[in-house]
Amino acid sequence: MLEIKNCAFSYQDVPIFEDISFQLNDGDRHTIVGPSGVGKSTFLKLIMGTLTPQSGDILIAGKSVIHPFKAPHQRPVTLISQEDTLFPHLTVAQNLMFGAPKKTSDVLNRWLEALELTPLATRYPSELSGGEAQRVMLGRALIYAPAIILMDEPFKALDATLKLTLIDRFKTLFKDVEQTVLTVTHDASVATALGGHVYRLDDGRLERR
Ligand code: ADP
Ligand code: MG
Repeated sequence: MLEIKNCAFSYQDVPIFEDISFQLNDGDRHTIVGPSGVGKSTFLKLIMGTLTPQSGDILIAGKSVIHPFKAPHQRPVTLISQEDTLFPHLTVAQNLMFGAPKKTSDVLNRWLEALELTPLATRYPSELSGGEAQRVMLGRALIYAPAIILMDEPFKALDATLKLTLIDRFKTLFKDVEQTVLTVTHDASVATALGGHVYRLDDGRLERR
């Protein structure tokens, strides 16, 4: 599904990765943990295509996205990043269906139910709690049905109990639709709760824990 082969990346003259490789198979839901500043967000941006490695190759679904270069919107990948927000002028239902391949009320109702958002369908983002907004954001990515979902610190800024409840719900949803997911976080408890393999990123290297 995803193969990163001997990639190197530097910001101007600051090297982040010299030779990094990684593989994610269909249906894998793995997590990369590492302290702030090691390059976790950079790694996801290379996969997404908002950054390009100076050498090496990245394959998604068996095809290189580097030679020839594929822009982010041409990659079957969704990145949920820390800076993401919902569209403020759209309701929960409209936000959810924004990128949906099939925009029928059937699809909408099924997802609202699965996400336990039915009572909130007509609310606007300013009328949601942090956890509810995050649920809509993750739901929106799932409905879009990309080959891979990349999550950058997705459960940040939630209290511990809410975080675990939310992770649990998404673990089930991801499993139900066999979604391939790669998460990066500084928070080891998120990695443990998410279940899949845990890799540690340090000093430009990835090691399975
Ligand atoms: P993490 O997500 O693990 O906290 P990042 O991938 O955001 O780390 O950043 C890795 C390193 O690269 C940090 O030292 C950061 O300051 C630096 N960095 C991030 N973005 C840029 C940029 N656009 N230009 C220069 N340096 C950057
Ligand atoms: Mg980051």
